[in-house]
Amino acid sequence: MKHPWLLFDIDNTLLDFTGPSPLAFAQMMEQEGHTFEPALYTIYKKGNLSVWHEFEEGKIDAIELRSKRFRLFLEATGLSGDPLKMNAGYLQGLIDHARLLKGAKELLEKVSKNHRMAIITNGLKEVQRPRIAKVGIGQYFDKIIVSDEIGSAKPHADFFHYTFQQIGHPPKSEVLVIGDSLNSDIKGGQNYGLTTCWYNPNNLKNNTEVQPTHSIQALSEVLDLIS
Ligand SMILES: [Mg+2]
Repeated sequence: MKHPWLLFDIDNTLLDFTGPSPLAFAQMMEQEGHTFEPALYTIYKKGNLSVWHEFEEGKIDAIELRSKRFRLFLEATGLSGDPLKMNAGYLQGLIDHARLLKGAKELLEKVSKNHRMAIITNGLKEVQRPRIAKVGIGQYFDKIIVSDEIGSAKPHADFFHYTFQQIGHPPKSEVLVIGDSLNSDIKGGQNYGLTTCWYNPNNLKNNTEVQPTHSIQALSEVLDLIS
């Protein structure tokens, strides 16, 4: 067996994020008494992205991240609200709307019979674990590593050091990383000396210098790489 250990990213690899995120945002806005418009979500997304970059550069911590992304949104739109409450409402929306991507359950069901698996995810603990539980895939994994809980994130080596500690230090050649992000999953895995599989369902062009070992468009193709 080529890779007895599989490390899976979560967002847009096993669970849909792109679809549920605006739904969660709209749900939160309604609860806050605001009318949802797609343009508002675009404004939120822009601020959220810059706040995550600040977080990744170590300029702000995860506590600040939770409020700042909605504080920026309120400042940009002139709307009123409590940023932390909005953050909590949005995260609850992500849990409510959690859904697996096509082929995810089937793949996990098959590979779990003869592989050991862990989840490696960048995200906030109060939303990642409940989403995993909600879609019913927790039982397939030996370990679930959430960046927010350990204070480091993909692609940083510390995140992978911690993961390897947790999974009992298998030989690196036995581990396959599967994820949709070239800059976090693939770059991080590659720098750590692991084989990587870029899940690229929309056949995006790779404009980065990161070269995944494998690229796939359907999750079922993972089976060909590990058998
Ligand atoms: Mg992802």
